Amino acid sequence: MDVTSFGIDHDRLLRGIYVSRKDQVGDGVLTTFDVRMKEPNRQMVMDTSVMHTIEHLMAVYFREKSDWKDETIYVGPMGCRTGMYVIFKGDLEVEDVLDAMKKAFAYMENFEGEIPAARSNMCGNYLDHNLGITRIECGIFLHEVLEHMTKENMEYPKQNRF
Ligand SMILES: [Zn+2]
Repeated sequence: MDVTSFGIDHDRLLRGIYVSRKDQVGDGVLTTFDVRMKEPNRQMVMDTSVMHTIEHLMAVYFREKSDWKDETIYVGPMGCRTGMYVIFKGDLEVEDVLDAMKKAFAYMENFEGEIPAARSNMCGNYLDHNLGITRIECGIFLHEVLEHMTKENMEYPKQNRF
């Protein structure tokens, strides 16, 4: 399977979950998922404070609360602020993780209380969080996209001219 990120046509990329890459590491494979919450260059990107809160909540969810906790390698924000990267152990496809992703976004949409690790001794910019807007953004992605996934929300559009 060709999963190189250079051939992706961002002008036609929709919201969804995509296999960004697979890396052979030792005897195993790591699969990097592109969790694309905004259409690139066509929808407003998320605020940095929202990306930051999603990073904290999603990392805690996958590392501590999910069935995937033993497979979770990394959760982090995209610099373009249109989505998140999540890396799991295993040679995986979107269908394998869709249910776990729905649960993660439901967890974030409904999260109440103190944001995990949002304290000065545990975070590099602990005041830069926004739980209210994070809950709204996670609800939009869950209800508008994850609950209605089609092929176009799971397979990258390729660049014709590449
Ligand atoms: Zn932080």
